[in-house]
Amino acid sequence: MMREIALKVEQGNRINEKDALWLYQHAPLNELGRLANRINLRKNGKAVFYNINRHINPTNICALSCKFCAYSKKIGEEGSYAYEIDEMITKAGEAVAQGATELHMVGGLHPRWNFQRYVDMIAAMHKAYPDVHLKAFTAVELDWMARKARKTIPEVMTDLRSAGLGSFPGGGAEIFHPEIRDQICDTKVSGDQWIDTHRTAHTLGMRSNCTMLYGHIESYEHRVDHMRRLRELQDETSGFNVFIPLAFQPFQNEMGVNRYTFGADDLRTIAVARIYLDNFRHIKSYWVMLGQDVAQLALQFGANDLDGTVLEEKISRAAGGRAGMVMTRSNLENLIRRSGRIPVERTTLYQPVHENDRRHMTAVSNESASDDIIECLQALETGGTLAPSNLWRVAQEAPLHLVTKALDASGKLFSQGQSLTACLTIKMDMTTTPETAANQVRKLDSESKKIQNGDASVLNLDASAVTGALDLTPIIESCLAAAPRAQIVLHGIKSVVVTAEAAGLKPTEYLARLRASGLNTLEESSADCSMDSEQKWMVFHCAQSADIAVLPLISIRGIGSSLDWSTWADDITELRSRLVQDKTLFAVNLLVKADALVMPSEYLKALALTRLCLPTSLQIWTPVLGIPVLAPQRGLGADNSHHPSMKLVSTLSSFGSSSLGLVSTSELSVERLMEDVRASGVGPRLTCARQNEINLDTNIADKLSTLRHVPNLIAVS
Ligand code: SF4
Repeated sequence: MMREIALKVEQGNRINEKDALWLYQHAPLNELGRLANRINLRKNGKAVFYNINRHINPTNICALSCKFCAYSKKIGEEGSYAYEIDEMITKAGEAVAQGATELHMVGGLHPRWNFQRYVDMIAAMHKAYPDVHLKAFTAVELDWMARKARKTIPEVMTDLRSAGLGSFPGGGAEIFHPEIRDQICDTKVSGDQWIDTHRTAHTLGMRSNCTMLYGHIESYEHRVDHMRRLRELQDETSGFNVFIPLAFQPFQNEMGVNRYTFGADDLRTIAVARIYLDNFRHIKSYWVMLGQDVAQLALQFGANDLDGTVLEEKISRAAGGRAGMVMTRSNLENLIRRSGRIPVERTTLYQPVHENDRRHMTAVSNESASDDIIECLQALETGGTLAPSNLWRVAQEAPLHLVTKALDASGKLFSQGQSLTACLTIKMDMTTTPETAANQVRKLDSESKKIQNGDASVLNLDASAVTGALDLTPIIESCLAAAPRAQIVLHGIKSVVVTAEAAGLKPTEYLARLRASGLNTLEESSADCSMDSEQKWMVFHCAQSADIAVLPLISIRGIGSSLDWSTWADDITELRSRLVQDKTLFAVNLLVKADALVMPSEYLKALALTRLCLPTSLQIWTPVLGIPVLAPQRGLGADNSHHPSMKLVSTLSSFGSSSLGLVSTSELSVERLMEDVRASGVGPRLTCARQNEINLDTNIADKLSTLRHVPNLIAVS
């Protein structure tokens, strides 16, 4: 079916609603992204638009009470506000001083404002800043004004245009289908009225935008129906500038929806829109609601516009938007450049502000790379290896979609029904202060219940910050006395070397003691990256001869404003050479160095390339808390997984991840994490960390369930 749909698109035919629904429900994420990306490149070239704008929300006082709205207040309610026109002019002035070309104004339906107030507002703004484009008022506000003024919609529009209004935004569309609209905003204009209002605007020669609020209680069918109605109106009038999918923000709503949209769903929505809405030139990746990470990635999935600097946005913020209220021009340009695109500042009506930028909008047939890069990718696709210099060039030069194409063809990706794993973990920070270590063990008494109940299976002794000698054998014994069923992981290799030396032991002898006390796995930490590679691997070999599983690390580093691909290539090459001698390695962690500024599209490319370069028998673990683009905010506790930055977890398996690694139950909500994994289309399983005895050619979770030393395999799918 994917091939049939792609063929239709290639031949210039439009897809129908059935095709769009199939793409939503079944298309492999990367393949869907590649098709959408190709269409976008043909329509818009490598240019990605942004604008310098300011949002001004005139009032949050509203006569209606839509169930999804966290923004509206009643008159006199705490937190309600209504700007005077002078205040708005001052706010606009700040934006104009920073180069704004657009003011975007939408707000509540103030019961005491009459139509003249709106006309005066626009007239005053236009008088103060005649060169700035005023984009204001949704179809819902226009309907409100018309009813208050006892005028028709065309009369209202004409009056506002005469006062200086430039165009209309696309809000208020939500989901058109009455099955949903009646549940979420039954007092608002109907879907038919919204469409009629925009038809009127287009007939009067005014342009507008259109939106779709998704990720709440609607189904894919409702989304496709919504897009169908927009496509039909666009066929009729060609009056829409852009389609803007709005990801639902989950706080303070009356619908019982309390989680952010999944990143995989956001990308799917952008891509389906790009493919289905063939009569729209522009699809927006609205960073305010998607979050900056997904918004950047969406530029590879068919979007060609990031919106603007915004400066002050209160509506999605009230509903849980955590992407921030402002972006600078350089932020926006950086996000665009690092997705391999060219930033172009636009006007509200999608013309380049600088005429010279028009050359970047020339159609491009597809992603491309030089012949030798293509050859290198083909070599990786068929299981070949590359010299570090070639690997480095591929990583540097190959666009994300050429890498995922090779990965898809390599057969190294999970298929439907296989399991992405996570090891539920209790983390204990080790320290050289004996009292504190003893305290930690005491704390374990309460945590041990989790292990006894099967809510966690791994105790992770984090010795990465330990600089002096610390004999962990008594600590491990105490841990196992409190939680006999625990699997013990030691995080940090340096402490092994230092402690062995202080005790006058060879690392092999000390590791044998640790094994005898119950240690299962030795995990490299980011702090170990500074160790001499030979010494590190010597410790790993000693651990393996003591029957301790080892978990090495590939750490992605930043260099200036890009990625240090040469270090990544060296690490991969080293790991491959070790694998030749060492058949017992079962997994590698792919982390990002804490201080490195790595973009999501870069991390996912590194993940896909790592998967391509290493044999299938080696799992790639992507521990979410070690990857800043996935979980930049530490210290939120279990609330962390209710942060929009966790959205990309649902995309990881599509790029080659086998496991979320050690998941600390105090730092993440496991239930929410598993929902993310489920949204990626592979079934999550919670497993134990010691997996080196498993033949990884077949389903990991099935094998694990046959192992006797796994205390509690919890299948949540
Ligand atoms: S969504 Fe708009 S119309 Fe509905 S309650 Fe909120 S501000 Fe009012």
